[in-house]
Amino acid sequence: MARVAFANVDKFYGAVQALSDVSLDIEDGEFVVFVGPSGCGKSTLLRAVAGLEPISAGAIFIGEEEVTTVAPSDRGVAMVFQSYALYPHMSVRANMEFGMKINGVATGERQARVAEAARILQLEDLLERKPAQLSGGQRQRVAIGRAIVKEPRVFLFDEPLSNLDAKLRVQMRVELEALHEQLAATMIYVTHDQVEAMTMADKIVVLNEGRVEQVGPPLELYHSPATEFVAGFIGAPSMNFLDVALQSGSEGAEAAYGDVRIPLPAAAASGAARLGIRPEHLRLTDAGTGTLDAKVQVAEALGGETYLYSRTAQGDRLVVKVDGDTSVAAGSTVGLDFARDRLHLFAGDGRSLRA
Ligand code: ADP
Ligand code: MG
Repeated sequence: MARVAFANVDKFYGAVQALSDVSLDIEDGEFVVFVGPSGCGKSTLLRAVAGLEPISAGAIFIGEEEVTTVAPSDRGVAMVFQSYALYPHMSVRANMEFGMKINGVATGERQARVAEAARILQLEDLLERKPAQLSGGQRQRVAIGRAIVKEPRVFLFDEPLSNLDAKLRVQMRVELEALHEQLAATMIYVTHDQVEAMTMADKIVVLNEGRVEQVGPPLELYHSPATEFVAGFIGAPSMNFLDVALQSGSEGAEAAYGDVRIPLPAAAASGAARLGIRPEHLRLTDAGTGTLDAKVQVAEALGGETYLYSRTAQGDRLVVKVDGDTSVAAGSTVGLDFARDRLHLFAGDGRSLRA
């Protein structure tokens, strides 16, 4: 197992800059998730660790060794892809043994490693089957098994669960978390799904247009997003944003939103800003009695919880998350309130204004 580090990594595909000055430290044994929207550079960064993609500038380290120009096969990494990439004509056992055969691992050792991986992944009864005779989840377990038997210094996963149905994805997510516990291995996991990032990661790296937007433990990103981008990306439904003017009022710092004055916990900068509030931090009150009113357009009842898609008098969208037992009819006007310390403020350039 090993640490991984990036120092000022740039990557260009012709004129397209896929990675921009990425510097990052991943600890030995850590489960790190790269998350961000499609095209933000997640796969490029992961492939750079594997050596599948030469970088344009900067350096990459695995353990204490700089591997920037080291061949992929000599980096001691194993990668698992969304597409499984199994050999269709080979049995599960042969798929898992193949890489070891190429690398000259002795027969007895090969068999022992396959047996151990099969035990960990509960594939023991499937070893003689071909990939076509397996379900999607079983195929992905084989692909993970093929990575385990390589005994890599670092595991690399590129959206490995994206081909699975929702229920199986949750189950495999839990299995991967358990696998990380069991192997105590360094794992880097790429996903566009913030729920996977929140649930699996020791540390999340949010990427935006090839740049590292924020790095931190899941709840730190949720509670203290450094930018509006992170605030909007982490958490579901997404944080609500309103354009406000910061000013000092009779009671101290406040945000002006139309006629509404929202008291702020501390003196913030003055001028235009974006105020953020999560759907789960809005509380329903009777119309006219909260900080602001909103008209509910659609009430989406999920059973345990209900999402109220509403608009303020100024026409801004606000999603409110309420308990599933709360019944609010579409078309009704509700009052909304919130605790001051749940508010987020962002400057025009997207940076958080919260100290
Ligand atoms: P993600 O995995 O986050 O969806 P990628 O790392 O695949 O994003 O891509 C990052 C950016 O680099 C995108 O703009 C993508 O179009 C571009 N890109 C990726 N691979 C290539 C390639 N082989 N040639 C040219 N551009 C590429
Ligand atoms: Mg990708």
